[in-house]
Amino acid sequence: MPRDATSYVGRFAPSPTGPLHLGSLIAALASFLAARHRGGTWLVRMEDIDPPREEPGASGRILHSLQAHGLHWDGPVLYQSTRGAAYDTALDALGRVGHLFSCDCTRANMGPGGSCCGTCRNTGAATAPSALRVAVPAACRIDFDDVVQGAQSCALGRELPDFIVRRKDGLYAYQLAVVVDDEQQGITEIVRGSDLLESTARQIYLQQLLGCRTPDYMHVPVLTDGQGRKFSKQNHAPPLDDTAACDNLRSALHFLRQPQPGSDLDTPERLLRAATASWSPRHMPQSLSLDLPSRG
Ligand code: GLU
Repeated sequence: MPRDATSYVGRFAPSPTGPLHLGSLIAALASFLAARHRGGTWLVRMEDIDPPREEPGASGRILHSLQAHGLHWDGPVLYQSTRGAAYDTALDALGRVGHLFSCDCTRANMGPGGSCCGTCRNTGAATAPSALRVAVPAACRIDFDDVVQGAQSCALGRELPDFIVRRKDGLYAYQLAVVVDDEQQGITEIVRGSDLLESTARQIYLQQLLGCRTPDYMHVPVLTDGQGRKFSKQNHAPPLDDTAACDNLRSALHFLRQPQPGSDLDTPERLLRAATASWSPRHMPQSLSLDLPSRG
């Protein structure tokens, strides 16, 4: 679909593996403010393509928390669980131009970084069950500029000669789904946590193979606990208290090095209006600068 080059479309794309916590609020808030500051559209996409990792009811809780924090999105939420046909079309397109191969490596015989051991792509038909991988030519290098992290250069072909786009268990891989959906939703800038920076080269390579536009990227620092581990449900990050939305938003703004809105602003919506007007990624640190005490 042709896009108006001047219109900004951003998105927040949570996986429903648990409720929102302060770390995920920071990513949601950064993408919201970046979009609203430019007068753009802000979409929410629920990345529910990995049922074994998901928590029942988490999608609903995430959406409720976003609303409670005044982070109101545009249009309907896109659920990746409804997008199988689009992912199959993309896999067909990759297969037709000869970029896919079946791989039946097990964890025990995989190569470095989870790559294929190297023999599967020569054996033709795999013995089921097998994953589908995209082959990356050895000379492939991906360069891009990140608004916060600066110039990035990845020797993708040397570092990761292939990567999975459909898993052995038949589930679509995050790398494939995110590229297909960012294109379909017309996303012009991806604002997300810096833990996903290393996925970006794979996504740009897939965009190139599929003829998709490459959006701009802004990877904001992720919150970590006292030991440098990402603040996450696995590391006992407490769920956001939706009744303390203004305090949560103020903490997230502090972490993103944004000016604090006046203390008289006492609703999430009023606070967000002020934060939207003053939004600037200029002073944002590239890596974590706020350690929280380790829990449990
Ligand atoms: N669903 C991913 C996550 O929750 C984020 C994907 C993205 O922003 O590209 O970590």
